[in-house]
Amino acid sequence: MKVKKLCKIAAFVLAAIVIAGCFTGCKESDDIARSKYRITAQIDTSDMTALALCEIDYVNNTDVELDEVWFHLYPAAYRNGARYTPVTAAEIDSAYPSGVSYGGIEIRGVTGGEYEIGGLDEDVLIVKLPKAIMPTQRVTITVDYKLTIPNMRHRFGYENGTINLGNWFPVECAYDGGFDASPYYSNGDPFNLPVCDYDVSIIAPTEYTVAMPAPAERKEDGDKTTTTCKLDKARDFAAVLGKFDTVSQNTAGVSVTYYYTSDDKAEEHLKAACDALSYFSSSFGAYPYKSYSVVQTAFNQGGMEYTGLVYVSDAARDKMITEIIVHETAHQWWYGIVGNDQVKNAWLDEALAEFSTTLFYRNHPDYGVKYTDRIADAMGGFSLYCELSKCSDTSMDRSLADFSTPSEYTYMTYVKGQLMYDSVLNFIGEKNLVAGLRNYATKCAFSTARPDDLVACLEQTSKRELKPLMSGYIDGTAKLYSFN
Ligand SMILES: [Zn+2]
Repeated sequence: MKVKKLCKIAAFVLAAIVIAGCFTGCKESDDIARSKYRITAQIDTSDMTALALCEIDYVNNTDVELDEVWFHLYPAAYRNGARYTPVTAAEIDSAYPSGVSYGGIEIRGVTGGEYEIGGLDEDVLIVKLPKAIMPTQRVTITVDYKLTIPNMRHRFGYENGTINLGNWFPVECAYDGGFDASPYYSNGDPFNLPVCDYDVSIIAPTEYTVAMPAPAERKEDGDKTTTTCKLDKARDFAAVLGKFDTVSQNTAGVSVTYYYTSDDKAEEHLKAACDALSYFSSSFGAYPYKSYSVVQTAFNQGGMEYTGLVYVSDAARDKMITEIIVHETAHQWWYGIVGNDQVKNAWLDEALAEFSTTLFYRNHPDYGVKYTDRIADAMGGFSLYCELSKCSDTSMDRSLADFSTPSEYTYMTYVKGQLMYDSVLNFIGEKNLVAGLRNYATKCAFSTARPDDLVACLEQTSKRELKPLMSGYIDGTAKLYSFN
């Protein structure tokens, strides 16, 4: 996610040791079997609800026998009375311009096992299997559910003519010695998802275009149109409904489309998406999908990433639109292709998405943003934040639950991340850093990386010991300034 706070930061600031080998815990992508999701949803725009059926061909990707399977019910966070709400109190005005509104998910039936609703906030669907499944075995589970879409500018919500379907279906909880049932923290992007295959059909009034993350088929039947697409090896699946204008271009074999509601520089922003996709493909490895959709929509932060599709806030203006597009495009590699636990190690994708944006500008001087200015802004912002907040803990690697404020999360994750990568670049050079990131993107493709995997891949490529340098930043043990 590109947080809006960063606009404020920018405005505020303007006032050799050879490593013999390397170990990464990432599984090669070919080793990972994937669950398959077939979802059909009928959207009723008269009351902003949807009836949906999600058929899951679930694969036991663990090394233990499973007698139950857990699924996140993220839309439950949008209900009245949720303990973990999608936005903080400070964001209520920007998230709910038309007044507070609630949504939710109602499970109407499950086949494939008995079920119960659990988790920390009645936000997990637990399906108890009639017969346990062994590792690599599959089971079919079908969930019949009803969504109520809240009137809000968020991942899941509608406002200003667009309907965001993000994190909108039951999705399997990652398993690492137990199912990860992390709730919907308002900080960051509270997700930890394996890659899966998707086949999604959305039935909506014909007047709406449904922006999808992959080439879609539209079948019109009077006032209803079904839009269908398939997307394999995806970290998630999101769609946005709206009455869009579009511009498209092919770049590096990928069809890039910008869906927009109001933008007099649409061609320029399409070019930014193409330039970013092309630069990151040549730097970190080819973008593995056929299409890429950038969608201008109602969103209370800057932008939001999903595989093959990103949101750009309709409130963003001018150069901020370009920056959001580049940042969210970088997430196609950091979050999408290389996954990470965004609850426990949020910095792993956010710091890289932010620094990749800085690298993009460094290699595209025609965009008029200087590398040195971005690093100076980060340095000035971080030092001022630390001085004013008297922060005693500057560790980056903590759970979303352990950041006391959204500002602390932003400064420790995005801003300090920029400074860490700038130090690494100064130590090993841009060429080695980019080659190391390409190594990381290759070794950890379609897997869930850990911080040690990243450090090991950078060390392997550069043949330099980087752990002491990076750990100082990550653990907060290095003192960057005299007052922290
Ligand atoms: Zn981000």
